[in-house]
Amino acid sequence: MIDKLKQNRDVWKIFTREEEYNSIFTDQFNRFPYYLSKYKDIFEPKVSKFLSENGFKPKYPGRSKFAVCLTHDIDTVFPSVADTLYFTAKLLASGQKKEAYRTFFSRLSKNINPFYNFKEIIELEKKYNAKSSFYFLAQDLVDQDYRYNIEDLKEELHYIKDSGWEVGLHGCHTSYNNLEDIKYRKKKLEKVLGEKVIGYRNHYLRFKVPDTWQLLSEAGFKYDTTLGYSNCAGFRNGMCHPFKPFNLKTDKEIDILEFPLNIMDGSIFSSFINGNSMSLDLEDAWNLTKNLIDTVERYRGVITILWHNTSMQGNGLELYEKILIYCHEKGAWMTSGEEICDWYLHNKDNRFD
Ligand SMILES: [Zn+2]
Repeated sequence: MIDKLKQNRDVWKIFTREEEYNSIFTDQFNRFPYYLSKYKDIFEPKVSKFLSENGFKPKYPGRSKFAVCLTHDIDTVFPSVADTLYFTAKLLASGQKKEAYRTFFSRLSKNINPFYNFKEIIELEKKYNAKSSFYFLAQDLVDQDYRYNIEDLKEELHYIKDSGWEVGLHGCHTSYNNLEDIKYRKKKLEKVLGEKVIGYRNHYLRFKVPDTWQLLSEAGFKYDTTLGYSNCAGFRNGMCHPFKPFNLKTDKEIDILEFPLNIMDGSIFSSFINGNSMSLDLEDAWNLTKNLIDTVERYRGVITILWHNTSMQGNGLELYEKILIYCHEKGAWMTSGEEICDWYLHNKDNRFD
């Protein structure tokens, strides 16, 4: 199948992200932005469509026709004064007064802090027979955007792991292009967790094609799920299936599984990260999300969703629960990156390479 892909020049270009190799321009975080891409039609997974037309038909446990990879990047747990003001203002701006009030007083105690919500997230997902992955930062005080000391969250990490949910690494600003940095953070997180971590996503979705894949593979990760645009939902490389990336520099496949990121809370609502987002209201955000889910179902793919723990109230929570309900009704397999990774690596039918 990979040879068929190679022969179709257009599809191969999209799949490998060839245009990102020698891009002269990037945004302020060194990312390749959607507006520079020649491949604009990213709500259509063109490469997965091609694979389907050529007989690729992945299977999932039970009768599920597709999978949903649920993920949470943990950027903020104990908000700073600046975080408190930022999130409060953001909620007020979208008319969510009750949530703004709660957030404003979040620093007073863990019990009323809406971002200290790992148990609530797990309980919510359980209701719909779902599981997810939590990606944690492993920072030092000197790091840019320092948020928390991972050692202070030992109990929480173990609670997540013991519940059967996944703990993965959320790489720092300095990680995506530095092997030593990635290895250092991985080790730091593993020391607190007491076991190996296999899943990765970089903070701010910072990523360099194909180098970051190569580094993550060398550092011992089994999968990454960073490949999505920070300011637009969709299928960045036309794929709605996990895949092993191809390195055009070495002419070889890279030994890591990529779960392309399709929907991030911040990219469809107002942005958590600098840059423009789609800025949709709740109704439009839901329509877009539903559409992408239906598309992935059609191709028997995996839709990867990133919902920050800071979006689990008000409109953010409402939309997240709608996703859970909708996919539950469709009988989708909703689970962590770790479980989907394992499934894909052990089922030959689910691989086209
Ligand atoms: Zn982040």
